Amino acid sequence: MLNEDHSRLTTDLPAQTRAKLERLKELLGTQSSAEVLDEAFTALLAKLETKETPRETAAKSVAKKLRRYVIQRAQTCEYVDPVTGQRCNSTHNLQVDHIIPKAKGGTNALNNLRCLCRQHNMHAAEQIFGRAHMDHFRTVRDQQRSYVVH
Ligand SMILES: [Zn+2]
Repeated sequence: MLNEDHSRLTTDLPAQTRAKLERLKELLGTQSSAEVLDEAFTALLAKLETKETPRETAAKSVAKKLRRYVIQRAQTCEYVDPVTGQRCNSTHNLQVDHIIPKAKGGTNALNNLRCLCRQHNMHAAEQIFGRAHMDHFRTVRDQQRSYVVH
């Protein structure tokens, strides 16, 4: 069995690694550690060797810097209650929100980015979803109206 195509691997496995090996054997339906290792190596290599282009890397790091900047600039949630005029000012789970969503042509420009807490980020998304729904509703209504007129 041992020749230039096969080598023996002897190693100490911590209990957690041993458990993973056993779980993978179960999932892969094999008793062979070699088979599991080969599958695991293949999967990990595929993951690590999926290289992004320098441009993608640059875009990501700009996005990261922008996010950090927007949050540092605001310090707290920038949501202002339309009724009371009070700013939220929460410091928990701060996220960067696109004022005009990317799906609607919004950009990563600083004046389109604001800092919201998770709750208000979700609230803003709901409002936009609601607005989109209303736009669709209006379009359908207008089409029905023009259909009646013509
Ligand atoms: Zn908030």
